[in-house]
Amino acid sequence: MTELTTLGIHALQDLLARRQTSAEEILRAHLDWVERRDSEVHSFLAVSAERALQQARAADRRLAAGGALRPLEGVPVAVKDVILIRGLANTCASKMLENYIAPYSATAVERLEEAGGMILGKTNCDEFAMGSSTENSAFFPTRNPRDLTRVPGGSSGGSAAAVAANTAMVALGSDTGGSIRQPAAFCGVVGLMGTYGRVSRYGLVAFASSLDHIGPFARSVRDVARVLSVIAGRDPLDSTSADIPVPDYEAGLEESVKGLKIGVPEEYFKGLNAEIAGPIENGIKLLCALGCEVVPIRLPHTEYAIACYYLICTAEASSNLARYDGVRYGLRAPEYADLRDMYKKTRNRGFGAEVKRRIMLGTYALSSGYYDAYYLKAQQVRTLITRDFIEAFDEVDALVTPTSPIPPFKLGERLDDPLQMYLADIYTVTASLAGIPGISVPCGRTRGNPPLPVGMQILAGHFDEARLLQLAYAFEKAGGFEIAGSPNLPHTGT
Ligand code: GLN
Repeated sequence: MTELTTLGIHALQDLLARRQTSAEEILRAHLDWVERRDSEVHSFLAVSAERALQQARAADRRLAAGGALRPLEGVPVAVKDVILIRGLANTCASKMLENYIAPYSATAVERLEEAGGMILGKTNCDEFAMGSSTENSAFFPTRNPRDLTRVPGGSSGGSAAAVAANTAMVALGSDTGGSIRQPAAFCGVVGLMGTYGRVSRYGLVAFASSLDHIGPFARSVRDVARVLSVIAGRDPLDSTSADIPVPDYEAGLEESVKGLKIGVPEEYFKGLNAEIAGPIENGIKLLCALGCEVVPIRLPHTEYAIACYYLICTAEASSNLARYDGVRYGLRAPEYADLRDMYKKTRNRGFGAEVKRRIMLGTYALSSGYYDAYYLKAQQVRTLITRDFIEAFDEVDALVTPTSPIPPFKLGERLDDPLQMYLADIYTVTASLAGIPGISVPCGRTRGNPPLPVGMQILAGHFDEARLLQLAYAFEKAGGFEIAGSPNLPHTGT
């Protein structure tokens, strides 16, 4: 019997079409595996088995009545716990929202469900998506399924780890400064952040609104393309969602990448860790072998990106998180003297250290007297960073870079040094600031024991996701970069 939990969407739906399995059987295989494997990995904050069973049975009834397969029919999906699903708890991995039940569903979730996806549950993350390791969760850390002593990356670490551990076939995450791409790289799966506005943010709990995105994880580029086609597109409930037609990303995957011009920005390779540099250089050679023309390129404002990102995201976070005041959402401190005291005690008790740090940094950057020097300056630098990319895409079709400057680190290793943690976002925050799409694809592994995944990031111009996916697909097919060795590790491709 084929291992249902290791399949990709295509293979799974072949079995469904031939009646060799059922949505319920697929779901049960995943729920069983969650029970066994997730006790070590800890991807899930909550499993919604009942709800998923209903979806599976409804799918099986549809199929029995001769209904055609929908794009995600029978696909078990995990959803980061910052994306609302009506009737389920939405904690944002925070004590603040521990008992908060979502009153409506995110548009991306509704689209997944309409396409036949079955929601397995909600995944762990850094509190309010602030972090790069999933260790800022108020509940527990998630572990990297490739090496349980290491972090899965973050902030969407639970979603990335679930896909890597085969407990979910695909997952949704959110990316504000790298939170899909970096955990995808750390866990050895594919993760995509579309152009700002490509996927509706309705129902995504706001962290930094000008930077927030929802996007997919999967074990293959093809599956990521399928999910993106389902969730992308205009949504009247999110005024920043773009009214630009959504191509069939999957249908375009096979297009040749021969002759495409690929830029390698030198700023992303200075002093790069050898464990990362080796696989990325091999990856670049592989692109050459595929017939791409690889050229060096400059993105001169890259060095300001971390400072710029951490000013803008904290400023926006300080404003967005003002709503957790003990009045309207979630937690309220049980004892207090007056209203101000209630605010103070609630926020003190509900937020963890990193969230408090960001609220303080952001409040400072926005305060009168400092606003011009920090927030306004950061906005100006953001424009320069965006311009770097727009000029680059006048010359090249796409850019390749490492996704992360370091391999997955040990749990606890970076917790005492927030600045080191921030610096690790150096290669992902630039695309977020510019609003361009980015994907991380597996690109080999480190030499250690066990070998750890290395991810390559591909960036393209605004709304050029199709190009990004074509390149990633050709790369994945030519590379065969899956990490072999354990029966519960996935096969890439479908
Ligand atoms: N690691 C980055 C941060 O801590 C990115 C987070 C994200 O993309 N949500 O802000």
